[in-house]
Amino acid sequence: MIRFDGVGKKFGDNEVLKELDFSIAPGEFVTLIGPSGSGKTTILRLLMTLEKVTTGTITVAGKPLSHMDKGGKLVPADEAHLRLARRNIGMVFQQFNLFPNMNVLRNITEAPIRTLGKSRAEAETRAGELLEMVGLSEKITARPTQLSGGQQQRVAIARALAMEPDVLLLDEVTSALDPELVTGVLHLLKDIARTTDITFLCVTHEMQFARNVSDRVMMFDSGRVIEDAVPEKLFTAPEQERTKSFLHAVL
Ligand code: ATP
Repeated sequence: MIRFDGVGKKFGDNEVLKELDFSIAPGEFVTLIGPSGSGKTTILRLLMTLEKVTTGTITVAGKPLSHMDKGGKLVPADEAHLRLARRNIGMVFQQFNLFPNMNVLRNITEAPIRTLGKSRAEAETRAGELLEMVGLSEKITARPTQLSGGQQQRVAIARALAMEPDVLLLDEVTSALDPELVTGVLHLLKDIARTTDITFLCVTHEMQFARNVSDRVMMFDSGRVIEDAVPEKLFTAPEQERTKSFLHAVL
């Protein structure tokens, strides 16, 4: 379970997120949509503890990531909880961020061996299963540069899953792909969402995908959630004028 209570975020004078209150239940697939610069990626970065909140509290796995002391100073949670929270949350980025000097197998096994303490044999067996799932068994010894963008993104997805995350954050995972590779990656994500208990928080401009796969869609504008609804409702009968004009522009 993820909860945002009164979360605000400023970069200098730029108030990027304002008083956000929402929660995401285990296993839910929630998609964030909205105009460029509305704060969607910042939400994912706050969850990954790559950024700190300015106000409010984010709770992951039953414990806040930080709190304010009496003087209004931000106090991070203890290192053990932050480690646990980071370990439980995986992220797949627009730029695949594979390790260029390692082959596909090592890209997937490195973190489970180092941070989950898995044996090499165990990590390699799991990597084999994951590569089969993403349809890349024959590329096990290839380097990232020998793969297409779509294949690299599949490896990045397998790498994230190898860490056995409870939550997977997806940030524009198809934006850097050639159009004909997008559908395959989106199908794969849909299958993973259907067949696992993973909670997904997804930022995307792929409205058809958002509509097909999400349990809930949150529409962002200027750092606020202006509409939060099941996709059927949000895409066919949005309540806010801003949602209507956004969907009109992108669909
Ligand atoms: P897009 O759809 O274009 O990816 P977004 O909705 O994900 O946009 P964010 O990337 O969260 O938007 O950015 C929200 C605002 O925060 C933007 O005005 C951006 O310039 C600003 N911002 C993001 N990160 C930083 C940072 N590290 N330092 C300063 N400003 C930042």
